[in-house]
Amino acid sequence: MNCTKCKTKAVIKLPRHHAAFCKGCFNGFVHDQVARAIKSQRMFGKDDRILIAVSGGKDSLALWDILLKLGYKADALYVNLGIGDYSQRSHEKVRRFAEVVAAPLGAMLHTHTVEQEEGAGIRELSMLVHRPTCSTCGTIKRYQFNRAAIEQEYDVMATGHNLDDEAARLLGNVLHWQEDYLDKQGPSLPASVQGFAKKVKPLYRLTERELAAYCVLNKIDYIVDECPMAQGAKTLLYKEVLNRLETESPGTKHTFYWGFLDRSRNGIGNQTAMADKDQTALHPCATCGQPTTAEVCSYCKLMARAKTPSVS
Ligand SMILES: [Zn+2]
Ligand SMILES: [Zn+2]
Repeated sequence: MNCTKCKTKAVIKLPRHHAAFCKGCFNGFVHDQVARAIKSQRMFGKDDRILIAVSGGKDSLALWDILLKLGYKADALYVNLGIGDYSQRSHEKVRRFAEVVAAPLGAMLHTHTVEQEEGAGIRELSMLVHRPTCSTCGTIKRYQFNRAAIEQEYDVMATGHNLDDEAARLLGNVLHWQEDYLDKQGPSLPASVQGFAKKVKPLYRLTERELAAYCVLNKIDYIVDECPMAQGAKTLLYKEVLNRLETESPGTKHTFYWGFLDRSRNGIGNQTAMADKDQTALHPCATCGQPTTAEVCSYCKLMARAKTPSVS
């Protein structure tokens, strides 16, 4: 098997693109897909300051690597959830990448430690408020990333969601016709109101397999295990189904998701309308000032409940 571009020995085959690539041409392909995502969804420019949410997994570390290599100003934030050995190992991977790859390129790593700031690890907090760990984790991460982005004046927040993530989420939303969620599923969400950072997903044109290959080929050391608290059984099922379709008929995933983007009211033209809609629904949280649709934001509610455990 030879590289489709330069005819030297290929290291990876990409059936969905009817192509095979050597290491150099594969890196070129990956960088090109991200550059196209950034441009077509008007995510950010060379002067913008980007804050990446990193977990220590392949997607977020690959994203950090790619953005730096494309010449963007990208720092990262790691949220240490305090899940014993898992958090320790993932933190270590992030720290090493920050030192060896990011720092020499002028980028820095911010760290938020849940045990320090929220007063307990994620498991204990979830127990205190009687909520599933993943939902508590989601609330804290969303809140802390947005806060860091706003307080430290980043122009945009980037996450490592890939094509598999987005296609699986789309399938779930379509199966249940969750139109409100469909509205917010685009890879580029505007900074709707003062106090809410713009959010982008520059990896939406790349699959899980391609990102794992990118890490391996470029010696990016990442944590392979999923979070031990993760439930997400539904998402895994949707991914499995999509993978079966992809094997039978390569290109299914990207045709599905990109077709949605083409048709969606979520396109560039509609972002203003969405921002207007949010503007009327959101106002500052009575406790912390971050935008929310309720009187008090879900993070402040969570922390208040954690401090005064109910008798239930
Ligand atoms: Zn080549
Ligand atoms: Zn609040």
